[in-house]
Amino acid sequence: MKNVDILIVGASTTGCWFAERMAREGFNVLVIEKELPENVSRSYDIFHMSKPEMEEFGLDIPEEDSPLREFAFSGSPMISPYGKYRKGGSSIITVGLHKHDYIMYMAEKAKNSGAAIKYGASFCDLVYNEKGAVIGAIYEKNGKKYTVYSKIVADCSGIPSVARTRLPDYYSVENFKLTPRDIFYVVLYYVKYKDETVDPRKLDGFFMQYKSWSAPAGEGYDAILGIGGSYSYEYSEEVFNSQLLKNYKYPNYDILKVEKGLTPYHRSVYSFVDDGFIAMGDAACLTKPTCGEGCTSSLVQGEIAAKVITKLLNDGKPLTKKNLWLINKQYMVKQGKDFDSMRPLLMGIVAIDFDEAEYLFANDILFSDKILGGLDNGLELSNDIILSTVKGIVAGVLKKKIRPSTVGKILKGLMQSGEVGKLYDSYPESPASFPEWKEKADKLWNEIGSLADTCDPEILNKLGIK
Ligand SMILES: Cc1cc2nc3c(=O)[nH]c(=O)nc-3n(C[C@H](O)[C@H](O)[C@H](O)COP(=O)(O)OP(=O)(O)OC[C@H]3O[C@@H](n4cnc5c(N)ncnc54)[C@H](O)[C@@H]3O)c2cc1C
Repeated sequence: MKNVDILIVGASTTGCWFAERMAREGFNVLVIEKELPENVSRSYDIFHMSKPEMEEFGLDIPEEDSPLREFAFSGSPMISPYGKYRKGGSSIITVGLHKHDYIMYMAEKAKNSGAAIKYGASFCDLVYNEKGAVIGAIYEKNGKKYTVYSKIVADCSGIPSVARTRLPDYYSVENFKLTPRDIFYVVLYYVKYKDETVDPRKLDGFFMQYKSWSAPAGEGYDAILGIGGSYSYEYSEEVFNSQLLKNYKYPNYDILKVEKGLTPYHRSVYSFVDDGFIAMGDAACLTKPTCGEGCTSSLVQGEIAAKVITKLLNDGKPLTKKNLWLINKQYMVKQGKDFDSMRPLLMGIVAIDFDEAEYLFANDILFSDKILGGLDNGLELSNDIILSTVKGIVAGVLKKKIRPSTVGKILKGLMQSGEVGKLYDSYPESPASFPEWKEKADKLWNEIGSLADTCDPEILNKLGIK
């Protein structure tokens, strides 16, 4: 039996970052991680974080010659479905790092700040007091079970959300399990072009209509060709082979390595906190709606949580649902509203078919340098841009280049996006009115559905996915 201030489940990016942050504040922190150190986060190698985001969250940016760092790049325009047009592209520097090595570096930093990390220690269950509030957890290591009492349990266990999914129904943190409809199955092909004169960086970019991209891969490879999709890896691979490669010709290449991994594609949980508990990172569905990346976006909530919990503990206040609620409210205002209101709009945009999208790219409607080039600062649409977009789409319908049903889907996405924004603006200040808010939110998200609803029915049929 052990007593700590903060018990964290999972020692990947979110868990290590939070452990270091809270240990630095002087709290007694224990992290339990089911894997042994050499096996942590091995599903894929290279990941990216933007330099400004790393600076914002105090993530060290390794020097150019560090073995943790592979490359840095900027650019990555949006590419039209048949590859004729490239629009936008970010000027922000993104750093490519080796994920396992960088996490072990973060773990060392957490330990140097005073946090303890137990590897090979698998979370089993939560421990409750007589009032039904979380007061710790049980974990298993080498076949033996241990109980740890803590002021708060932070679930940073990623998609399995091992602690959150065991919460009782009376907790305000939802205990749903992520299903294949709520997950992005990402396949990464590390390739080398047969023709040595090909400049791979000129091919970098993102295909919105296939949810596919080409990005740097580091030494030994020319590029990572990536694809993500709902339901299964087979679905993603089928879109890559039967749609992208049919419509767009990469120069001939050899595939030298294939990696596969999962990332949540689901709105964030409505409430992260309750008595003695917080859900963080992928376990709280905090990935970016545009690309499914989550290492830095989850730290927006992490930073808010760190500040609120530090103040409460320093003031000698208990970590109750009521006291922790500020984390929910501040997160929804800072990032939650923007992220979750973008989801229905993206569903509308994904409904644009390949020919329609090519037409829009060609005519600078919606997919223009003006709109896509400004994405670094968020999607800010002036009245002029909205007006010219609407005019362009109407002209496209009249010329029979855009189907009225597509316009209907985009409009539906826009309207639902506005409704989510309005609802999240009215996020409750305290837990008392949460059940009423949740009822409205459930109704709205049922109407919106999921990105999985936009999957190609023919491919689903072919793969026998219901
Ligand atoms: C192919 C691919 C590429 C990606 N690229 C990027 C990128 O470039 N940039 C970016 O920001 N994001 C990227 N993402 C998303 C990113 O991987 C996740 O958002 C991020 O890893 C989430 O971190 P996390 O710490 O919340 O969860 P995870 O990384 O999933 O870590 C959870 C940890 O909890 C541990 N755990 C699980 N169960 C238990 C248990 N029972 N007991 C104890 N410990 C347990 C796990 O072993 C693991 O170490 C990518 C995702 C994929 C699939």
